[in-house]
Amino acid sequence: MNIVLLRENDWINANTVKLTDHRARHLITVLKVVANQTLRVGLINGDRGLGTVTQVSGEGVELEVALSDAPLHRHPTQLVLALPRPKMLRRVFRSVAEFGVAELHLIHSYRVEKSYWQTPHLNEDKVEMALTQGLERSGDTVLPRVIQHKRFKPFMEDVLPAISAETTLLIAHPGNSAPFEADTQRPTTLLIGPEGGFIDFEVNLAEAVGAQKVSLGARILSVDTAVCAALSRELS
Ligand code: SAM
Repeated sequence: MNIVLLRENDWINANTVKLTDHRARHLITVLKVVANQTLRVGLINGDRGLGTVTQVSGEGVELEVALSDAPLHRHPTQLVLALPRPKMLRRVFRSVAEFGVAELHLIHSYRVEKSYWQTPHLNEDKVEMALTQGLERSGDTVLPRVIQHKRFKPFMEDVLPAISAETTLLIAHPGNSAPFEADTQRPTTLLIGPEGGFIDFEVNLAEAVGAQKVSLGARILSVDTAVCAALSRELS
């Protein structure tokens, strides 16, 4: 945990928060905090700062906090990802939060198993938990927005042109594509396919709405690796 993430209802007075849940347990048992120790803290979707431990007891941990730093910059890429299998999805949630992605659009595509949409990992609380773990690792406070689109064609024809209007639109597709190069002038909207890849019809549709095919190298990368490889080429 590289930052203690706080919620509005943690405050017990203007400057003090009291933690009694898993965060307190982590601070006591793993970090072994003591009085007067300072820790990085931040309000979820808000500012960051420092917290000074004022009390450690069986009831929890109290910290005096001062939030003086703005949230970290968002990553310049918004990600459009064909829904991966649940285990991989959790890793992807953590990674997009770690990289500071502002928006993750999860889409259906031909090679996405329909049953993946039923996974409990898509429930709001589970999504937030995985994203929060990413923020705690990276020291960030802003939760990525995760939007689900269960119909491919309406997404590609109606939603994608609107959300990518002010961005460079790319589709990662192995093979004969131009190398992916970060656009330093404009933000990017990047599409990444499912484990079986996008089918030709889907790539053609993406190109028809303005996407350029890009390669992440000669090796075929698994979805979660492709996400990190793409995001690491352009950092916020
Ligand atoms: N057999 C599939 C194919 O050829 O498309 C492999 C799919 S790959 C496991 C999953 C997704 O990651 C792809 O649809 C693509 O978006 C992205 N990807 C993986 N490796 C890539 C590479 N070397 N270049 C571009 N995209 C890649």
